[in-house]
Amino acid sequence: MQAVKLEWDESLLAKYNISGPRYTSYPTALEFNEDYHLADYLHCLHQLSDDKSLSLYIHIPFCQNICYYCGCNKIITKTRSKAEQYVEYLVKEIKLLAKQLGDNPLRQIHWGGGTPTYLSIEQITQIMSAIREVFDVPDEESTEISIEIDPRAIPIEDIKHLANLGFNRMSMGVQDFNEKVQKAVNRIQSFAMTRDMILEARRYGFKSINIDLIYGLPFQTKKTFEQTLALVTDISPDRISVFNYAHLPHRFKPQRRINADDLPSATEKLSIFQYIITFLQQQGYIYIGMDHFAKPDDELAIAQQQGCLHRNFQGYTTHEEYQLIGVGISSIGSVNGQYHQNVRDIPSYYAALEQDKLPLWRGVAVNQDDLIRKKVIFDLICHFELDIHRFEQANDIQFQQYFANEITMMQPFIEDDLLILTEAKLQVTARGRLLIRNICMLFDAYLNELHSINSFSKVI
Ligand code: SF4
Repeated sequence: MQAVKLEWDESLLAKYNISGPRYTSYPTALEFNEDYHLADYLHCLHQLSDDKSLSLYIHIPFCQNICYYCGCNKIITKTRSKAEQYVEYLVKEIKLLAKQLGDNPLRQIHWGGGTPTYLSIEQITQIMSAIREVFDVPDEESTEISIEIDPRAIPIEDIKHLANLGFNRMSMGVQDFNEKVQKAVNRIQSFAMTRDMILEARRYGFKSINIDLIYGLPFQTKKTFEQTLALVTDISPDRISVFNYAHLPHRFKPQRRINADDLPSATEKLSIFQYIITFLQQQGYIYIGMDHFAKPDDELAIAQQQGCLHRNFQGYTTHEEYQLIGVGISSIGSVNGQYHQNVRDIPSYYAALEQDKLPLWRGVAVNQDDLIRKKVIFDLICHFELDIHRFEQANDIQFQQYFANEITMMQPFIEDDLLILTEAKLQVTARGRLLIRNICMLFDAYLNELHSINSFSKVI
């Protein structure tokens, strides 16, 4: 597959800029429900054959300070003892979960939050030891162990300790290096601190280092963001994610501390976005899709070239075949196609574990139609095309017949040159790639049923 090129068409972006899911799952989390019980989850885990590899997500909800743009499920606290107790229960959950599984190898571990590095290196070690005690973790070279780092919340010498524990991938939030912007969102993080942390990580063998940025924050202009991007590319991370800030103060309380008048106008925001795309491609980054860019020799870019890129709750991933299990509050997993999510609050989490129960909140048991649509949506979002013949053979359906309504709905997209449909392929054009969420929405059976699409963020 060729590297993905983008074409910018402002009138089309304006026409299609509605709200839409990010499709880190299908069905999306809005369809998760409490009719999915612990017995369903346990049955699903027991059905898993021993040869299936696992990927473990660990959620650490604590942060020391609030970032005003934040829409995550986190707990702001300076009381460290809260984390001590959480670690104890997390270890208990890991052990309980492992008892439900066979000898499946654990080949991928991802720590997210909140701020995973809110924990001390001793607490992180305690959790990693528990994992190695109850799971079969193959040698460190072949197991991907990644962590989201907040450079403000970790002493630089701990990078070496993380490497010794087997961590070999890292993602770091930056958002913007401009001081005025940082002040307005309450996240002060210098360029030097970020650069030094990344240099240290490289020294200890970390690969696929990612930096997260956000556009659309208060006081950002194209000019200020040019400076931020120049600094970021100077550090030369392997991956860059650039997210669109959605100002939804009615849903996310911290955002009420952002003055809406300080936000860039829609036109300014679009010109920042256009600059991001042009500049990063000029700098040799490949557009992976959605908000993600990677160097050509990074695992994500290689997986996309080889047609084996996949998507899950952490965004794009290289291992479709891994079964995802989650621990910690609000963590989400996916086993045998079904989705499940833990309770979102600490008291319910501790109460379930006190009774030696996995702290499941809700989930969704997918049906055959969900699996078919998921395949279409994930192929389009990862590879911008669907091989119709192969898809028909794998699913024993006639594409034109099965998706007759969707084909009618996609006509305006075809007329606008966003999509090309032939007997052999459904292909997203260079103009359509930035509007991939809209294209995937054509195949989402739930959007018109229960929920308003306004539950999601804008696609651009
Ligand atoms: S953005 Fe990240 S670091 Fe900031 S408050 Fe939210 S979860 Fe914590």
